Amino acid sequence: MNLPVPAYGRRSLADLGPSVLAALGVSGQPNVLDLPALPRACVLLVDGLGWELLRAHAADAPYLSSLAGRDLTAGFPATTATSLGSLGTGRPPGTHGLLGYQVAIPGEGRLLNCLRWADGVDPLIWQPSPTVYERATAAGVTTAHVSARAYVDSGLTRAVYRGARYVPADALGPLVAAAEHAVRQGERSYVTVYHSELDSTGHLYGSRSPAWRHHLAFVDLLVRRLAEAMPPDAALYVTADHGMTDPGSRVDVDAEPDLRAGVALLGGEPRARHVYAEDGAAADVHAAWRERFAGQAWVMTRDEAIEAGLFGPVSDTMAGRVGDIVAVPYADVAIVATEAEPVESSLVGMHGSLVPAEQLVPLLTYRSAQ
Ligand SMILES: [Zn+2]
Repeated sequence: MNLPVPAYGRRSLADLGPSVLAALGVSGQPNVLDLPALPRACVLLVDGLGWELLRAHAADAPYLSSLAGRDLTAGFPATTATSLGSLGTGRPPGTHGLLGYQVAIPGEGRLLNCLRWADGVDPLIWQPSPTVYERATAAGVTTAHVSARAYVDSGLTRAVYRGARYVPADALGPLVAAAEHAVRQGERSYVTVYHSELDSTGHLYGSRSPAWRHHLAFVDLLVRRLAEAMPPDAALYVTADHGMTDPGSRVDVDAEPDLRAGVALLGGEPRARHVYAEDGAAADVHAAWRERFAGQAWVMTRDEAIEAGLFGPVSDTMAGRVGDIVAVPYADVAIVATEAEPVESSLVGMHGSLVPAEQLVPLLTYRSAQ
């Protein structure tokens, strides 16, 4: 198995928050990304802006393409909840515990959808690490997170953005204006901004569709306006939570009894599956999935996935959230479940895997002229 493991501690999304804090002068934070020392920083996370997609569509994003940049690994799975956890806590997934789009709640026989959250799951217990915002605030840095009003009090927001002042902004103009204001507060400031619609466009129309390319052009203008709104002592960083791919074929778990046999809960998403087996069935499920996806997906046991380092270090508490089997397509295929997940299974664009198209995200830097 030639697994491309995310570069935690070297060049991953989890390294961005601590590097920014170090650049702001917060002690005890490793600046592994070697960011320049400045008193103000704004990080824009564009959902779904993969490094490879951006490079393939440079003509649609001339401003983004003009910025100095490099790639980071998003982390595993390459999905929004996991990556927002990595950015918000500055820790790899195995530490913050947001291990995918849908993960089993150990001992409860049900899944937690980490975007929509669920009753009875306390975000402060599910994600116990202090956030980057909490660490910044303790060091005297003013923090804010600018995003849609709909997420202001969600479980995911409380898990990964706690400690930040939440500034709701429901359109591109208010988003820029809010960031422009927030980044000027205090002596030092750390502001994050979230934009969701490139990802939703890619899911619905595909990541190489005219709709996606047109939306990318709006993102390009968003970034230019945001850059122009930065004060001279600030840096603007543009990154993403994952890329995207448009799988050409689909395997429907709900239509193949051999794949459903012994499976108690099917978690994750089509490009990164956590498969939770019924008691005593893990070995049989592992064998069936390995055989079915030979040549198409990495199929690992929980221990193999953890030992390979897919999630970074995994504590005992978090290990129970990992599937008994972890199945990650590297070929042009999605593992869907048309009955259990009719909406997700119908999407054109998908993400989650370790392949570069999904895994690599940009880190672009803008600094105003001194
Ligand atoms: Zn998505």
